[in-house]
Amino acid sequence: MPSMDKCPLCGSERTRLEHKTAGTSVRSCAVCELLYRFPQPSDEDLEALYNSHYTKEKMANNRPGGASPENVLRQHLDLIDRFLLPLKGKSALDYGCGAGSLGRVAKARGMDVAGVESNAHAREHLIKTGLFPVYKDTHELSTSGKRFDLIALIQVLEHLREPWDDIGKLAGLLSPGGCIYITTINSRGLNITVNGFHRRELLKMEHLYWFTYKCLDALCKNAGLDRTIRLRNAVADTDRGPALYVSQTMLSRFDLAGSIKIGVKR
Ligand SMILES: [Zn+2]
Repeated sequence: MPSMDKCPLCGSERTRLEHKTAGTSVRSCAVCELLYRFPQPSDEDLEALYNSHYTKEKMANNRPGGASPENVLRQHLDLIDRFLLPLKGKSALDYGCGAGSLGRVAKARGMDVAGVESNAHAREHLIKTGLFPVYKDTHELSTSGKRFDLIALIQVLEHLREPWDDIGKLAGLLSPGGCIYITTINSRGLNITVNGFHRRELLKMEHLYWFTYKCLDALCKNAGLDRTIRLRNAVADTDRGPALYVSQTMLSRFDLAGSIKIGVKR
């Protein structure tokens, strides 16, 4: 877990308090631009929180708490296919697969899919569906001997306790020429800045980190990966009308969109 006065990513002592409310705070690092929650919630608190997202009712509707709509997931795969890796016939690992919505979309494109999900409720639900193999963690997965052309973390990085560790382990599961795709909250996005960190993010206790492009580069370097490709194309829920997509396209040009996206190769 992060300490109060050292950046957990780069180790710098140039950190300061950014936001605070009862029981939680967010600190920033002046060197690598990481924002991190301090203290992090306990394992028990996080498990209870995720269990409330992954109820049977929510999973039956394929929309457990916070899951991206399928049109958004298709846009992410289109970006990967266009800029990082032709996806047809390739293998994919959905890391933090939740109730399996990305896997469904990837399978529909003819990909060979597997998932990793740490929440037991979500994992058991997926295993029952028989949709694709699901593993508890990278350790369990590594015993299968599988390797992947694409490893995707879609709005997952901010949930991990030590995401640089996860990325380092995942890099070891890539096939030759494969890539890791990461998309996460942009800590300098216009929405988060204007609408206020307090209202949008501080109380989402499952969010432990917030990133900028510079910070994602540092994280990948920390995990031994230095070939990062920044993707500045918009992704937005088209069910919410065209205005959102247009605004995200404009904001992406100035790194002010709601999310940031990178591809990483070994
Ligand atoms: Zn730092």
